[in-house]
Amino acid sequence: MIIGYDDYYFKEVFSLNHDKIVNISTKRGFLWPSFEIYSGVAGFTDYGPLGAMLKSNVIEKWRKIYVVNEGFYEIESPSVTPEEVLIASGHVSNFTDPMVQCLECKDVFRLDHIVEEQANLSVDGYTNNELDKIVVEKNVKCPICGAKLSEAWNFNLMFRTNIGPKRNKSGYMRPETAQGIFIMFKRLSRFFKNKLPFGVVQLGKAYRNEISPRQGVIRLREFTQAEAEIFVHPEDKTHPKFNEIANEFFVLYSAKNQSENKEALTLTAQVALDKKIVANEILIYEIYLAKKFLNEIGIPDNVLRIRQHLQNEMAHYANDSWDVELKTDKYGWVEIIGIADRGDYDLSAHSKHSKEDLNVYIEYDEAKTIKKTVVKPNMKELGKKFRKNSSKIIEVLSNIDPLKIKEELENNDIYKITLDSTNFNIEKGDLSFDEVEDEVKGEKIVPHVIEPSFGIDRIIYGLLLHSFNSITLKEDGKDKVKDYFKFTPSISPIKVAVFPLMKKGKLPEIANDIKDSLRFNGFTVEYDSSGTIGRRYARSDEIGVPLAVTVDFDTLNDNCVTVRNRDSEKQERIKITELNSYIENFYKMLM
Ligand code: AMP
Repeated sequence: MIIGYDDYYFKEVFSLNHDKIVNISTKRGFLWPSFEIYSGVAGFTDYGPLGAMLKSNVIEKWRKIYVVNEGFYEIESPSVTPEEVLIASGHVSNFTDPMVQCLECKDVFRLDHIVEEQANLSVDGYTNNELDKIVVEKNVKCPICGAKLSEAWNFNLMFRTNIGPKRNKSGYMRPETAQGIFIMFKRLSRFFKNKLPFGVVQLGKAYRNEISPRQGVIRLREFTQAEAEIFVHPEDKTHPKFNEIANEFFVLYSAKNQSENKEALTLTAQVALDKKIVANEILIYEIYLAKKFLNEIGIPDNVLRIRQHLQNEMAHYANDSWDVELKTDKYGWVEIIGIADRGDYDLSAHSKHSKEDLNVYIEYDEAKTIKKTVVKPNMKELGKKFRKNSSKIIEVLSNIDPLKIKEELENNDIYKITLDSTNFNIEKGDLSFDEVEDEVKGEKIVPHVIEPSFGIDRIIYGLLLHSFNSITLKEDGKDKVKDYFKFTPSISPIKVAVFPLMKKGKLPEIANDIKDSLRFNGFTVEYDSSGTIGRRYARSDEIGVPLAVTVDFDTLNDNCVTVRNRDSEKQERIKITELNSYIENFYKMLM
């Protein structure tokens, strides 16, 4: 079955409204512009009190899935990274975006973005020359003043810094959290007793000096990532829990279907593997986990798209790469998670530059007998020819792959070696080769890495966007609009609102005791005693509080309070002595 993502669905089913959620989240303390009293700086965001709580609940959910359920271990490494690490990883030379400047107003832009906006083309992976050509052909102009643009050049996105007071050691703020894990590989491997597979995660800030960020929390210069690096045997990318998900359905937008202008495919994990749409079991399992995480925090499947990278988008070393994308009304489809099979690229690159072995010795279940070629020096000939140098020459030869020597001798009749700046020519008669049997117990391998990489801030944006609900209710014969975040209870920053009907007297005393007791029990509580009860309900609904407890005059007689449910607006009278367990049960059932 082929299904599409039609705009009708999003417009009618989710009345998505970027401006409304930005308005409520600014007004109610979720997201604020950073450095506001100094006029602000683009590409940074502050999380206000409710935003910070929401974010930490989302992160805790992520940890529950990846660290607790999957058993990946968490590490923490510095954000400031010495230059050599990022030279090895390729970031110093390749972590760039194409930049242009307006020839009139001198403002700068990310060229691929303005080409996409103005020429309506997808230009991921295009070279600067190709982009410059499109600028001319499609008449792409400065988005601010409409004047001509310069040619494109590469702008490195990393924030450069100096380490130490002498300014003699260059560094960068890390552009991703992943590198810290690769650098620790040697110790991690020992920690995991050199057994593959193992998974390691890191959560923390990443820094990218984005050229012209104009998309709020979607494009930040400092943002939070949650990344997992799963180290696997290159020849074993099976997953022990694959059977549990083999029959789950996925909507996958394969590279083939994108390039043929076809719609996404709906198929099971098993079929996706059989048809070689997804490269291996671990990748599809990770796609499943990412979806499960998003669903659990309240982002449903029907606003998600799982899109494979096109060949020109994919890093040259990647075996397969998928993005989880979020449907937004303002920015179109936005990548929120990347899931890639990165092969041995990272470990091999760091091994080459650091000259450290970043491999794992894998012992075979049973020792293997293998045939191998060995060099047998003809002592008499070598002694005659090279005299006092002969023993040194034999030692050098013993460290060279015998097959290489054999091949060279067969092709060119001589094999050259250099010893203390002197060249020696080894001829056919100087050596012979023997085939021997050898018992090997294991081998050294460089693990492959499968990486799910989450951008937490984009996920928070998606959560706000798709939790937002606007409904019209009838109240006293009039229409009343209820705008609110319908947060999944486990994610909601505030779990319970407590309202005393009156500001003074016995009622606030009881309400205060209830608030303290709920807080003591681990619930976040908002205490609100101002305005009418209707206004207070509206305010707590707006920020997504699932339950509100009201202490009224009847409480003085029956020792009960009214508990109101945000979604159903149903009200129940609950005994104060039973309130804690009522609320505990409510959350237990939903978590
Ligand atoms: P990447 O390493 O570019 O694949 O990024 C991994 C994830 O980080 C993406 O899926 C995004 O969710 C997030 N991300 C990347 N760049 C930014 C940014 N400038 N602002 C916010 N989130 C970002």
